[in-house]
Amino acid sequence: MSTAILREVPERASSWVEISATALRHNLGEFRRIIGPRCGLMAVVKSNAYGHGLAIVAGEAAAAGVEALGVNTVDEGLTLRRAGIDTRIVVLGYLTPAAMAEAVAARLEPTVYQMEAIASARTAAAAARTRARLHLKVETGTHRQGVSEAELISVSRAITADPHLELAGLSTHFANIEDTTDHTYARQQLACYEALVRRLADHGIVPGIRHIACSAAAILLSETHQDMARVGIGLYGLWPSKETYLSSLLQAGMRVDLVPVMALKARIAQVKDVPAGAYVGYGLTYRATHPTRLAVLPIGYYEGYDRGLSNLAHVLVHGVRAPVRGRICMNICMVDVTDVPAAAVNDEVVLLGAQGDERVRAEDLARHIGTINYEIVARIHPDLPRVLVA
Ligand SMILES: *Cc1c(COP(=O)(O)O)cnc(C)c1O
Repeated sequence: MSTAILREVPERASSWVEISATALRHNLGEFRRIIGPRCGLMAVVKSNAYGHGLAIVAGEAAAAGVEALGVNTVDEGLTLRRAGIDTRIVVLGYLTPAAMAEAVAARLEPTVYQMEAIASARTAAAAARTRARLHLKVETGTHRQGVSEAELISVSRAITADPHLELAGLSTHFANIEDTTDHTYARQQLACYEALVRRLADHGIVPGIRHIACSAAAILLSETHQDMARVGIGLYGLWPSKETYLSSLLQAGMRVDLVPVMALKARIAQVKDVPAGAYVGYGLTYRATHPTRLAVLPIGYYEGYDRGLSNLAHVLVHGVRAPVRGRICMNICMVDVTDVPAAAVNDEVVLLGAQGDERVRAEDLARHIGTINYEIVARIHPDLPRVLVA
């Protein structure tokens, strides 16, 4: 993964990703507006910024003044520190003891939910002669990471009683916001979280920054904003789900405008005419019913254009939708440009994003292969150049 920020598409690139700075800033602005001036914004840039490019997105988010960045691994955090980003960085994922030592030395803020991690953070902070800022994650019903109510006070005390440690934040994560228009379970988790905060207060423990909201919670439930919202998918201009979008429309006065940030593009490698009856690609899964003009594209499932899109997806060529024909290969796929007579070698093709009046959405691709928009963008291969465009 390269951290160089490109501003022009390299002429040598046959496939690449474009990141719209305008769209990204717009979405950051929308979430600022939604959460208001008293709530901090954590831009979640884990997983190569959901495939968008870690350095580009974190750089733009930091320049826009977000209060924190959220990463999954110590490597992502170190990459950002090396890129000169000084913003608070919270590591949301698991850190082995060795990774904990690196994280603490680089002033990353680990998420912890058990004594073992607190002990390794303490060792790391003492060795680095620093104070580790820890975010304690509590269990409220997702049963993923999180400390149980029974252990809450003892685990919190292990942090607050230690001069090398600071309880910098208290977090939890919702299990059932995106998948439904009924937010009863989310409200129960919120109530559970608030009860845990009160229990801490009863013991004289100040929880630091309270942060529990993801994009869907930030949009739909203002009570979840607390001190900071952790926003991922929405920053990339994608709705967490159709249900979240519908719920937002049903809420009076709440209108959120999200603009997709990513475009996936490639150049035509070859144009060829095949006769009626010709088969296309591995397994002969497509047979031309009429004389057909094909364009060969230098992009396939290795680059993140899922093989499940074979014979299903469309790409945009000269602003016209062109269907994928035959199986998607490792680095190649074929599309039907019979109705796009202008299509020529080296022309730009859009596999995700807009061209002319047409747009291919991450949701369109997700539907074809039975997944969610998150996975479509997150799996675009990190090797593809990411280009920051206006
Ligand atoms: C990924 C993640 C988020 C962001 O969720 P979105 O739905 O993308 O906004 C927030 N919090 C945690 C702990 C996460 O892992």
